[in-house]
Amino acid sequence: MNEYPYWWDTLPSRTLGSENSELRTENSAPATSHQPPATGRVDVAIIGAGYTGLAAARLLAKSGASVAVLERERVGWGASSRNGGQLLTGLKLDPSTLIKKHGEARARQLFDVAKESIARLESLVAQETIDCELTRTGHLQAACKPSHFAAFRDEQALLARVFNHRVELVSRADQRSEVGTDGYHGLMIDEHSGAINPARYVHGLAAAAVRAGASIATGVAVTGVQRASNGWRVSTADGAISARNVFAATNGYTGGATPNLQRRFVPIGSYIIATEPLTPDRAAAILPKKRMAFDSKNFLHYFRVTPDRRLVFGGRAEFTSPDENTTRRAAAILQRAMTDLFPELAGTRIDYAWGGNVAFTRDQMPHAGVIDGVFYAGGYCGHGIAMATHLGEAIADRISGGSAVHPLFDDRFPAIPFYDGRPWFLPLVGAYYRLMDLIS
Ligand SMILES: Cc1cc2nc3c(=O)[nH]c(=O)nc-3n(C[C@H](O)[C@H](O)[C@H](O)COP(=O)(O)OP(=O)(O)OC[C@H]3O[C@@H](n4cnc5c(N)ncnc54)[C@H](O)[C@@H]3O)c2cc1C
Repeated sequence: MNEYPYWWDTLPSRTLGSENSELRTENSAPATSHQPPATGRVDVAIIGAGYTGLAAARLLAKSGASVAVLERERVGWGASSRNGGQLLTGLKLDPSTLIKKHGEARARQLFDVAKESIARLESLVAQETIDCELTRTGHLQAACKPSHFAAFRDEQALLARVFNHRVELVSRADQRSEVGTDGYHGLMIDEHSGAINPARYVHGLAAAAVRAGASIATGVAVTGVQRASNGWRVSTADGAISARNVFAATNGYTGGATPNLQRRFVPIGSYIIATEPLTPDRAAAILPKKRMAFDSKNFLHYFRVTPDRRLVFGGRAEFTSPDENTTRRAAAILQRAMTDLFPELAGTRIDYAWGGNVAFTRDQMPHAGVIDGVFYAGGYCGHGIAMATHLGEAIADRISGGSAVHPLFDDRFPAIPFYDGRPWFLPLVGAYYRLMDLIS
């Protein structure tokens, strides 16, 4: 079993910032920089080469700014090459919670931002001709209990009334047309969602940023950010650069270089396994319409089939950030969950297992803006492929002098009380949600 993301093996053999062979182990030392390390002075220094940082770098460079992206590991090394590749409608919060917390008008505005971010990503991919297997497959959400299917009915009505968004319900009796199991109590289908190869997308975005004129230095860890005359001094292990503006795009990997941001994002481990390629018949029986799939629990499972017919099956099997032990433990838990749902996969080989950090916020909403003079965007709570691209661009526009008004801009984003970046409360939160999954 390979303990690194399956997606890494789908990259062309030479990709920006790393050769494929360098990617093929989680524990390899950071690749040396393929571009000269950024030195001197730039208009914007961006920390982190994931979707957020690279989408911003591309747009800023297009507007004529000098841009240096500084990445501790390799291009896309963080969540952007580790995720499930599910391009989902909506936000982490379900529609009724969104309305309860924000009221109908703002909830509609937030939902629309999330929905439009998918269309925006699609046009970016087309404009830059990024080969990333992007398809509008739709998604299915599966009810784990009869009461969850009843809640889907309310959600369907709410989505139509408040958000002008249509979804379809499929009863348990008919669900095999969508998913090859009787383990669920009905489904909710949303045709708006899509599938993407996350690693190919992030590498395509990096190439587009470089074409636009940005520089990307890999293997360069930012160790500190201090105010200086005319802007900022950004320190790295190899020296320092000066920048008029700094954008921290580190999301679930935010560390001590930006301690104020670290106190706002909680990194939570999410894990995935990928099977060997399935026979065409078996793959078609599991997900006949090749939809993105996830269930209705708090500790949810999500799954999809890749173009080479592997079942990619993920979930929050462990709460802590991935290491060798947690990844193996999580892989065993996920394999059991997968074969409970699809017993015919009992003898199927698991070819890949990996994990990554999802950044959660206290209100389970993404945030972007400025904290103590440093631009930031993140906290996508597992719904970040399109939203990170969108907020990266929104912050780039703001840095270029564009609008400082956006429904998700928050320059007063509060720190989480009694939290310094070490999420001591996760076992308690985990226990609470496990209990909720049992009783609700
Ligand atoms: C297992 C998993 C499954 C997911 N599934 C989905 C999904 O199906 N659909 C969806 O929409 N979202 C999903 N997500 C979330 C999505 O992947 C993220 O929201 C998105 O990738 C965030 O992109 P980013 O650029 O903000 O952060 P990242 O891609 O994590 O990039 C941050 C980068 O910052 C770098 N960095 C950190 N500190 C420093 C420093 N001091 N100096 C230099 N560099 C630094 C890191 O090395 C990292 O590469 C999933 C996430 C995980 C982990």
